Amino acid sequence: MNQIRVAKFGGTSVANYQAMCNCAKIVTSNPDTKLVVLSASAGVTNLLVELSSGNLDVANIEERMGKLAAIENSILDDLGRPEGITQEIEKLLHEISDLAKHAIIEHDDALTDRIVSYGEIMSTKLFTEVLKAQGFNAKWFDVRTVMRTDNRFGKAAPIIEVLSNNAKEKLVPLLNDYIVVTQGFIGSNAIGQTTTLGRGGSDYSAALLGEAIPNCNAIEIWTDVPGIYTTDPRLVKEAHVIPEITFSEAAEMATFGAKVLHPATIFPAVRRNIPVFVGSSKDPQAGGTWVRSQTTSKPTFRAVALRRNQILLTLQSPNMIGACGFLANIFSIFAKYGISVDLITTSEVSVSLTIDHTGSQSNGQSVLSEQLLNELKSFCKVRIDEGLSLIALIGNGMSQVSGTGAAVFSSILDVNIRMICYGASSHNLCFLVNQDQAEHCIAELHHKLLEDNPTIIQ
Ligand code: ADP
Ligand code: ASP
Ligand code: MG
Repeated sequence: MNQIRVAKFGGTSVANYQAMCNCAKIVTSNPDTKLVVLSASAGVTNLLVELSSGNLDVANIEERMGKLAAIENSILDDLGRPEGITQEIEKLLHEISDLAKHAIIEHDDALTDRIVSYGEIMSTKLFTEVLKAQGFNAKWFDVRTVMRTDNRFGKAAPIIEVLSNNAKEKLVPLLNDYIVVTQGFIGSNAIGQTTTLGRGGSDYSAALLGEAIPNCNAIEIWTDVPGIYTTDPRLVKEAHVIPEITFSEAAEMATFGAKVLHPATIFPAVRRNIPVFVGSSKDPQAGGTWVRSQTTSKPTFRAVALRRNQILLTLQSPNMIGACGFLANIFSIFAKYGISVDLITTSEVSVSLTIDHTGSQSNGQSVLSEQLLNELKSFCKVRIDEGLSLIALIGNGMSQVSGTGAAVFSSILDVNIRMICYGASSHNLCFLVNQDQAEHCIAELHHKLLEDNPTIIQ
């Protein structure tokens, strides 16, 4: 059997008919590209999140439905409104409207995921039609028949073994005969309810499906930029594409805010050592970034990433002095609420930790609940600082050469650093700053460490 490539296209890549045609060209120009994973068309998931909130009145639901229908109908119009798919999209839009009205009366996270999943269902139905209209043997595939997850609606975790078995049985055989088009972002639990993997989760879906296909030899992430840049090109115009980067560095970049990849994307690729390509669906000739286990260059500073909306929690208790188990207690509370803690620093009587607050749950809700805070407050003082940003320098051997800290912090002498984490990984150095200084920090660090200077320091 041939090698198989999985190609994932993000929201802007499938925003309209013309964008879908660009994707079709990329898919069909390589006969190995047999599995296509799509996001919802740009803007659709945000509308669906609002529609599922239960907070809209009927007039507002109609208004959002109008916007949603306009996106889907413009693609249908350009396709020539063929029989079958036109009625199917109309039916799906009716279902969304009914469910959104139901959410006003009775709202829960399972219903939110069900409503939000329609974005990917519709984009994949339409893209399958685009391929068929061009004469290709394309097949729509409901990823929920293979993508088994747990029950955490809004941020469900895949169950890899079940996914792998399902994929071998139900998906892999189709790849011999068809270009299979399926959904990113969504899955289903053991009783068949629709779940979602968290915002931006389609990258992760593509990597998980790549991992589950035995002869997959590349995962392609097609987006609106021609690769992974030294920093977000929207923030620094001098940012440049990194031609190749290691799995470890890319994972750190994604974790610390480089939105171009969902944070979990790299892990399935690492498990099977499948290279990941990132490129622009608008300009596939522009090249892109290869993410792989080894790269020829290993610069000390490769990139700088920004993650906004960080929460700093400072937990203070005199009982911490010389005590055993204080941190274990704290972390067991976070574990109970399914919250992952990022950075940690400790002093004699306090521990500071950060929580990512970028609305990674599909419903956009805060992860810090009242109950969690009350539990923490029952045995320590809790201070919450918001309005912070996390800056992360990513590179290689950062804690193994002298001068790393000096190079970083001398570049931003005018900035108030709130917390520093360094040394746990040789691939990053990260710290918190006030939100209003974050972009200045990124620009300065990029300018001093990634544009002018040699990247190896001794
Ligand atoms: P998609 O809808 O295709 O998944 P996203 O919007 O999720 O696309 O990700 C692409 C965006 O990520 C880019 O438009 C860019 O602004 C942002 N981004 C942030 N950091 C980086 C980076 N280091 N390199 C490239 N893009 C980045
Ligand atoms: N459509 C989903 C979102 O907007 C998933 C994705 O785009 O990856 O978050
Ligand atoms: Mg994305």
